[in-house]
Amino acid sequence: MEKLFNLLDECYQEIVEIRRYLHQHPEISFEEVHTPEYIAAYHENLGHEVRRYVGGRGVVATLRGGKPGPTVAIRADFDALPIQEENEVLYKSKNDGKMHACGHDGHTATALGLAKALNKIKLDLEGTVVFIHQHAEELPPGGAIEMIEDGCLDGVDVIFGYHLSSMSPLGEIGYRSGPITAAADRFDIKIQGYGGHGSQPHNTIDSIAVGGQLIVNLQQIVSRRIDPLSTAVVSICSFDAKNPYNIIPDSVTLTGTVRTYDEKVRSSIEKEIERIVKGTCLAAGADYSYQYTKGYPATVNYPEETQLVAGLAKSVPGVDSVKEYQPAMGGEDFSYYLQHAKGTFFMTGAKITNGEAYPHHHPKFNFDEKALLIAAKVLGSATLTYMKNEVQTTVNQEGIR
Ligand code: MN
Repeated sequence: MEKLFNLLDECYQEIVEIRRYLHQHPEISFEEVHTPEYIAAYHENLGHEVRRYVGGRGVVATLRGGKPGPTVAIRADFDALPIQEENEVLYKSKNDGKMHACGHDGHTATALGLAKALNKIKLDLEGTVVFIHQHAEELPPGGAIEMIEDGCLDGVDVIFGYHLSSMSPLGEIGYRSGPITAAADRFDIKIQGYGGHGSQPHNTIDSIAVGGQLIVNLQQIVSRRIDPLSTAVVSICSFDAKNPYNIIPDSVTLTGTVRTYDEKVRSSIEKEIERIVKGTCLAAGADYSYQYTKGYPATVNYPEETQLVAGLAKSVPGVDSVKEYQPAMGGEDFSYYLQHAKGTFFMTGAKITNGEAYPHHHPKFNFDEKALLIAAKVLGSATLTYMKNEVQTTVNQEGIR
C-alpha cells in the first residue's frame, strides 16, 4: 500500500492540473463531447483498453494486472451543470453558463490519477481494474442506466465510487452501510372540478376546496400508512390555482416530491397517493389526473464492502476522521450500479479553509483539492485489498478441496 500511496503523491500535481483543466472546460449532461475524448486519450496514453461512446457518451477503460484475480470497477462521473460560475479563480470556467459545481471534475481527476498510479504497479496487480467514466449524472434518467445496458459492468465483481463533500471537513470520510442517498421522485396531480362564480359555489365543483382536502389527506400517508421505523417524505411543493378574486377555478394542480430509501415503501407511496386523490375527488364529484415520475432510486451500499472501505480509510494518510453518515436526501445514479454489482459509495470531506465554503450546485462552489489525493488513496487501497482478499479466498477454497 505504501508504494501506491507514494505513487499517488507523485501524481498529485497532475491530478490538480487535470481537475483544473476539466474545470475550465465544463460540459453539461448529455452534451459531453470533449470531456470523454480527453479521458479516453489519457487512458490510451497509459496503454489501457478503451471503449468510447459506452451508453452514448461514457468511457470505459480497462487495466489488466499481471496476475489473475477479480475485476474491480471505479466509477467517476464527468458532467457539469448549467450554472454561471462566480468564483474568481485562475481556472474559472471558460464555457459561459456552464460550471463544474458539483465536483465531478474532481471525481474524474481522482480516477485518472489512480489509473496512472496503478498502471505503474500493474505487473503486481492481482486482477483487473475497470474505470467507468460516466456522463450525465446530473440529469435523470442519467448516464448510468445506459452504460450498464451497454455492458460497462460485464465481468465486474465489485464497484467503488465516491462523492466530494464541500461542506464536510477535509480529512473526513463518510460511509454508510445500506442507503446513503434517497430515491427522489416527483408527482403531479390535476384536480378537475367545475368552475363558476364565487357567489354561487353550489353550481360549481370547487377544485380549490378539493385541493385543500387533498393536502390534508396526503399527510396521512407518512403518519398512518408507513411503518414508523421506515423513512419517507411526501411534500407538496406547489399548489397552482390562479384566478380573479370572484371566480372558482375549473381546475388546480399540485406538484410535489417523494423521498424514500426502500423500494417497497417507494412503490406503496406511489399507489397510496393515487388512492387518496381518487377518493378525495370521488367524494366531491371531481375528476383527476395523476402522474408519478421516478428519479434515481436510493443508493444502497453493501455492508461488507462498506466496512472494507471504512476500515481502510482509517490508515490513509490525510484522513483524520471516518464517520458513519446519515443518508442524504439528494439523488445519485450510482444507485443503478449497486442494483447489479456489490460495492459501496462513500463521501470525502473537501471543505475549503481559505474562505467561505459553499454547497454543491452553488455558483461559488469549490473544494480543497487535497481531498482528491485522499479519495484516490481510499479507492486505491480498497482496490488492492479487495483483490488480495479475493485471491486469498480462492486459494483457501481450493486448498480445502
Ligand atoms: Mn454530484
